[in-house]
Amino acid sequence: MKVLVLNAGSSSLKYQLIDMENESVLAKGNCDRIGIDGSFCKHKKGDNDNIIIEKELKNHKDAIEVILSLLVDKENGVIASMDEISAVGHRVVASGEYFTEPTLVTDESLERMKKTFELGPLHNPHAYTGVIACREVMPNVPMVLVFDTTFHLTMPEKAYMYNIKYEDYENFHVRRYGAHGTSHKFVSGKAAEYLGKDIKDLNIITCHLGNGSSISAVKGGVCQDTSMGFTPLAGVCMGTRSGDIDASAVEFLAKKKGMDIYEITYYLNHDCGLKGLSGGYSDFRDLRSQVEKGGEEGRRAQLALDKFAYDCKKYVGAYMAVLGRVDCIVFTAGISEWNGFIINDILDGMENYGIQVDKEKNTDSCSTPVKDITGKDSKVKILVIPTNEELVIARETKDVVSK
Ligand code: ADP
Repeated sequence: MKVLVLNAGSSSLKYQLIDMENESVLAKGNCDRIGIDGSFCKHKKGDNDNIIIEKELKNHKDAIEVILSLLVDKENGVIASMDEISAVGHRVVASGEYFTEPTLVTDESLERMKKTFELGPLHNPHAYTGVIACREVMPNVPMVLVFDTTFHLTMPEKAYMYNIKYEDYENFHVRRYGAHGTSHKFVSGKAAEYLGKDIKDLNIITCHLGNGSSISAVKGGVCQDTSMGFTPLAGVCMGTRSGDIDASAVEFLAKKKGMDIYEITYYLNHDCGLKGLSGGYSDFRDLRSQVEKGGEEGRRAQLALDKFAYDCKKYVGAYMAVLGRVDCIVFTAGISEWNGFIINDILDGMENYGIQVDKEKNTDSCSTPVKDITGKDSKVKILVIPTNEELVIARETKDVVSK
């Protein structure tokens, strides 16, 4: 069975064709600048080099047609005909409480999907456009909506509720939803596999540290709590997002800066976090080179890195308390995979809790499926595992269409 995974953004459409027999990626790529001048598609067949097709892509339907023509292309393709695609899995960021599991695309589920737009305004309408376009081009292929947030919907009520009037939760669905659910699910499952244990017997803290970062407490494969909130703005310091902040400070700042509610929300999402603290650098590579340069700019970059590690440490500590016993801490995504020092900083001084990193093994890259950086005296396993959200989407899609 071959599953096409699609991830639609406002002007982009990422894809992977996965052979579920051995879970190998047959081809992958990205259509970019959809609806904008200079649109193109980057396509990669297996281990071959990327090829770039420059072509006008007026909308997502054009993009899907190009992707399908590339997949069946004699030279760059990987399948003989479109009939070989058994199902399509669509990534959808926000489920709200409208979907609790991956869901087959039907007229009814598409209608229901519209209700999620206000919960994921930057992403969900584009995912919807992608599904509609795909349905037009492949009307007979079953499709599945796979949501980033459903993994977190198992949180207990006391974890997902905000301390607001209960009827406001009931009427407006304001609560913690979290994000990166497919990633937390993938790496916790992979950790159990690596440890040779049933995930049901494990308590794991998963740290997805990328431009957006979130930390989750996972007990027996079930999410107990997660650092992101109603939106991905909450939790730890991020590339450009503030993470947790006192709501009254938001009002105070807005007044001082002469901003309305939309402008201050934009500010918190785009101008804060590592970028705000350091004076313009949201990327770890840039922050590290700023620190090297020294001076006041270097000090500010170091402050950003220190604050990031400190925020993560506090969530790890909180989730140790939530879980009671922790068997494993897993780190994933770009920051974890390329910046060993930050994991040292996050877990520094936690030996009394049975947590100790092997600093020699904790190098600045992760080329293996699992990098075990557990120190010799550590009771808690510490792993770095590259995430694979597309594979989770393909697996869920296969499960739904096989039912
Ligand atoms: P997202 O998918 O949320 O955009 P990623 O998981 O790609 O984020 O992580 C982005 C972060 O990973 C950035 O801070 C970036 O600096 C860091 N990163 C990615 N590659 C490297 C690298 N080769 N060396 C150092 N840091 C890296």
